[in-house]
Amino acid sequence: MHKQDKLYIDGNWVSTAGRQFLDVMNPATEEVIGRIPAATRAEAGQAVAAARAAARTWGCTPVKERAAYLARIHQGLAARADEIARTICAEVGMPLKLSRRIQAGLPAAVLESYVTLLGGYAFEERIGNSLVVREPAGVAACITPWNYPLHQAVAKVAPALAAGCTVCLKPSEVAPLSAFILAETIHEAGLPAGVFNLVTGTGEEVGEHLARHPDIDLISFTGSLRAGRRVAELAAGTVKRVTLELGGKSAAVVLDDADLPTTVKSTVGACFLNSGQTCTAHTRLLVPEQLYEQAAALAVAAASAYTPGDPHDEQTRLGPLVSAAQRERVRGYIRQGVAEGAVLLTGGAEPPDGLATGFFVRATVFGKVTPEMTIAREEIFGPVLSIMTYRDEDDAVRIANGTPYGLAAAVWSGDPERAERVARRLKAGQVDINGGAFNLLAPFGGFKQSGYGRELGRFGLEEFLEVKSIQLRE
Ligand code: NAD
Repeated sequence: MHKQDKLYIDGNWVSTAGRQFLDVMNPATEEVIGRIPAATRAEAGQAVAAARAAARTWGCTPVKERAAYLARIHQGLAARADEIARTICAEVGMPLKLSRRIQAGLPAAVLESYVTLLGGYAFEERIGNSLVVREPAGVAACITPWNYPLHQAVAKVAPALAAGCTVCLKPSEVAPLSAFILAETIHEAGLPAGVFNLVTGTGEEVGEHLARHPDIDLISFTGSLRAGRRVAELAAGTVKRVTLELGGKSAAVVLDDADLPTTVKSTVGACFLNSGQTCTAHTRLLVPEQLYEQAAALAVAAASAYTPGDPHDEQTRLGPLVSAAQRERVRGYIRQGVAEGAVLLTGGAEPPDGLATGFFVRATVFGKVTPEMTIAREEIFGPVLSIMTYRDEDDAVRIANGTPYGLAAAVWSGDPERAERVARRLKAGQVDINGGAFNLLAPFGGFKQSGYGRELGRFGLEEFLEVKSIQLRE
């Protein structure tokens, strides 16, 4: 049982008498595994005040010093990698093997990338008679979701600190435990008081208070479209800078010269990663009409390797969904897919065999999905793949671009130049060609209603910087 009864404010772990707590559940066992403080608005305000007070000095620290702090935080996280992987496996349900690599490994790597980046980043440049300087944006509120909880937090906190901003982190109340590990690590790294603050609680109470708070300069939000819209609305009151990383409905476009078995297997993997609870999941497989039967058979075969099971078991590839509510939402979408006439090729809304406990959903593949169907338009956030067909390249691009989202996409082709041509036509923030690997230095973010702003690497750093032109008399 992870008992966290304190918030981290102004360099101290603080508790309050009569505090309310929120339970954290293991979605595989349905047991309560933790309890976290539900901060009040007053406490969120104290965190903002601490961050505001610390901003002036932290913003002036030499870049080398900030890099040294980040290096210590990186070492701290790397030393606790196993604990992080197990904690997130328990609170999110991501299989342990993947959790080690992604939930623990990725955030450590992102932190390290900012240590390196600070070594070579030009905070100043000359443009004609102007000296252009990049200054910290001030106090940042970072609001994060539950699906990759530590990665999402680090993808904001690391560049914020690197830029010279101070931070109030509000992690998801659904999977908040790794945020406490991050706060402990930061504390041990000796960061000056107030530079980093952790306030846990609900979005409505803490998140909204941060979004409207006049002493917050910038909000970096990752989560649902609904909450992102609300944050942007509230932030507009004081014209805060806002970065939004929202949902997705990403397409994998398979051209007729692609290696179909590899393509389908890889897309099924990209769709079912973290039980489909991945914002960039490739949830729509677009194939030429003449390859439909073949693709459908390959997808069913690939999906059969994703039997839901205990995420702590090293062999498991498909864990539970994060909560009962999420499971019911996904089952609802599966029923809707059937009702709207999609062909259920494998899986379905019934509970998987032999798993009476836990929020498990069967690995599901739909065929003959058409663009107007709900399952082709809305983010399901579960292990559900929709196979769609297209007539020609133009039709494929039109279908791929035909949702309100624009986060990610993939193109598969035997001809890399052709694939690149199609990739350039897709309205999405990141497009993978033939399984091109995730790059943690490349900008990450969305087009259209997937949000605005970018995370990771240099682009992620620049979200936390203000630009000033100083005109020099020559
Ligand atoms: P969510 O929007 O419910 O919650 C995200 C965070 O926002 C949580 O910390 C929550 O407490 C807070 N929040 C909720 N309502 C709020 C409000 N009114 N004001 C301020 N804060 C509020 O999302 P979730 O269920 O945690 O995460 C799933 C969603 O996140 C999916 O839609 C997914 O696509 C998206 N996501 C996007 C990315 C990306 O980078 N684009 C990455 C991961 C997840």
